[in-house]
Amino acid sequence: MHIGIPRERAPGEHRVAIVPPTVAKLIKSGHHVLVESEAGARAYYSDLLYRDAGATLLPDASEVWGQADIIIKVQRPTEAEADQLRPDAVIVALFRPSANDPLVDRLAARGITALSLERVPRTTLAQSMDVLSSQATIAGYQAVLLGSSQLARLLPMLTTAAGTIAPGKAFIIGAGVAGLQAIATARRLGAIVSALDVRPVVKEQVQSLGATFVDVGPAVGAAGEGGYAKELANDQQARLQEVLSNHIKDMDLVITTAQVPGRPAPQLLTADMVRRMRPGSVIVDVAAETGGNCALTRPGETVIEFGVTILGPLNLPSTIPQHASLMFSNNMFSFVSHLLRDGTLHVEPDDPITGPMCLVRPTVGVSA
Ligand code: NAD
Repeated sequence: MHIGIPRERAPGEHRVAIVPPTVAKLIKSGHHVLVESEAGARAYYSDLLYRDAGATLLPDASEVWGQADIIIKVQRPTEAEADQLRPDAVIVALFRPSANDPLVDRLAARGITALSLERVPRTTLAQSMDVLSSQATIAGYQAVLLGSSQLARLLPMLTTAAGTIAPGKAFIIGAGVAGLQAIATARRLGAIVSALDVRPVVKEQVQSLGATFVDVGPAVGAAGEGGYAKELANDQQARLQEVLSNHIKDMDLVITTAQVPGRPAPQLLTADMVRRMRPGSVIVDVAAETGGNCALTRPGETVIEFGVTILGPLNLPSTIPQHASLMFSNNMFSFVSHLLRDGTLHVEPDDPITGPMCLVRPTVGVSA
């Protein structure tokens, strides 16, 4: 199989889907890897490293798109890129799937198989292929660093000749993959950390990281399908807001990561809650991409209201591009090993991994 790695062209995207060590492993598995020149440059993987790993470097993007049997990308392709794919090609990317997507219709019309990385099932079998988890880990880490750098106060306790500084308080809302990494990072910086989630099952994980679990009571439980949360009923939402309102006013750094799959992010922090926080505090809204958990968040911007700085960063993983790409690429090697096992391309409706990922008609048993 010819596996193509084009350069990402979306604004602000610095990652690359496959890094040189993975190229070497794919070649060892019997594949050819076609890489667009400079594809890894913004993640600090040079063309030389790709060439040394055995990739074929192609200066023209259209050659990669036109020659590959399988394209692996971080971001969804543009329509112009998709039009260069060979009929019967396979494309794997973060498609941000939605109903009535003209891009998907266009791919379907040309017989192209599109596999959406957001739909990798959250099962033990697929864990090593789950880019949502690997990239959320990076987002959680970076959110704490960004927030602490904007904070008017220190996070660690310091005892110095210039006086003793009490440790800062960090509060993590949503203890999924990003939230758990945010807890660990804030703890390493010396903060006193508390966390809240509507899935009671995460209480033990929060505590095992040395944070306090803020209990919203048995009336607010929203564990949905596949280990995700579901939306809260109105009375549960009101109870949650009451708990948040009481807890947040003493916090220095608040990291919000609450998400419900397929829905806009739940709005949890009101302007009034922000007004009650101490000036100089910071909120980092990791859910900004899907609307944000704070009413005052402006996606992609930093706003200061009532003396509180509210950051709404977009694409946090891309801000740590070398390791984000490495982790993405490791996930992709596991995925390709599943997709191309036994010398055959496996995209079948009943395949436990590629079946749910398929946006466009599955191709059955095409020989690799
Ligand atoms: P996510 O990004 O969809 O959501 C982040 C967190 O927000 C979740 O913990 C969710 O419960 C929480 N949340 C939703 N609404 C909330 C609200 N109103 N208030 C407070 N918190 C709210 O989730 P995620 O981090 O991608 O993963 C969720 C869980 O899925 C993980 O903790 C894990 O148990 C499971 N998971 C399993 C696998 C696997 O087995 N392969 C991989 C990744 C995740």
